[in-house]
Amino acid sequence: MCASDARVEALSDGYVYDPERLSAEQCTGDACVVCHTRWPRPRTALGVLPDGGAVFGCGDCAALVGAGAPVAADTRVFAAR
Ligand SMILES: [Zn+2]
Repeated sequence: MCASDARVEALSDGYVYDPERLSAEQCTGDACVVCHTRWPRPRTALGVLPDGGAVFGCGDCAALVGAGAPVAADTRVFAAR
């Protein structure tokens, strides 16, 4: 499948990852697409697969690549006032 990934386009959702280069856990969102960490479960969407599925990264890697919101959905935000 050498020529199959010629159609890589920048979607507004983020970077399109090549599933050929990811593990099964990474493709299903069970592992960080950058560092393969499986726990805690990665929650920040770092990009999408060509079929539209989202891939996730841990907070550290999301910060490194500058993707996603800095605060995860399950994290409380404290207002300093
Ligand atoms: Zn990571």
